[in-house]
Amino acid sequence: MNAVATAPTASATTTSDATLSCRDLHKSFGQTPALRGADFSVDQGEIVAIMGPSGSGKSTLLHCLAGILMPDAGEVLFAGRRVDQMSEARRSELRRREFGFVFQFGQLVPELSAEENIALPLLLAGRRRPEAFAAARRWFAPLGLDGLEGRRSGELSGGESQRVALARGLVAEPQVLFADEPTGSLDSLTGEQVMDLLVDGARRQRTTVIIVTHEPRVAAYADREVIVRDGRVADPVAGVAGLPEPALSGAPR
Ligand code: ADP
Repeated sequence: MNAVATAPTASATTTSDATLSCRDLHKSFGQTPALRGADFSVDQGEIVAIMGPSGSGKSTLLHCLAGILMPDAGEVLFAGRRVDQMSEARRSELRRREFGFVFQFGQLVPELSAEENIALPLLLAGRRRPEAFAAARRWFAPLGLDGLEGRRSGELSGGESQRVALARGLVAEPQVLFADEPTGSLDSLTGEQVMDLLVDGARRQRTTVIIVTHEPRVAAYADREVIVRDGRVADPVAGVAGLPEPALSGAPR
């Protein structure tokens, strides 16, 4: 059994109905509309890829779902709770305790070692240091990172950094892992290795995964793909109701 399977349960609020959804989300940056009535829903344990053209609103949708950005209008629901009505403090706690994140460039804390970076979410969630570091160390062998525990991000390759970032995203067994272009900075072979590890880790923990990507080979790892276009989520078959042009090139008309 590897570390992914034996990682201790960190979340005290595990629920079986932990689904995440949004309804009629609107978000603008100044005069620029980023979301114009986005609807989205993901079931617990599901892996969904959010695709679509650059500037279509994918990252904004991800950030609203994760409680990083507040929408101007619409609802975000997580396990029956209205994320869009929570205070910043409550959203911050939600992100710390129930969500995990993997970004394009890993975004490790440069002053910290690989081991400290992975332990960080557990420490922030209030776990004792020996326990947090023991849990962090268990990720090194299955991720092929043995011996790199003390390295800082500047001493790791892009693929190694991203595997450390992945372990950091999953170590606290989040309900939902948000991944924004998680392989965007990697070559295709390294990207595939990271995606294999991401999907394997998430499935073992029944972590829901929402991946923003423009790469079909990354989206192919997901159970389902949705397309964001002009700030709305298109049904891949039906397209976006109300849009004059086909919502998805190649989609049945
Ligand atoms: P995608 O992830 O699909 O590339 P984004 O969600 O990043 O799209 O952006 C959607 C739209 O909102 C774009 O027009 C983008 O320029 C704009 N936008 C996103 N974030 C900001 C921001 N912080 N300030 C101003 N405009 C933004």
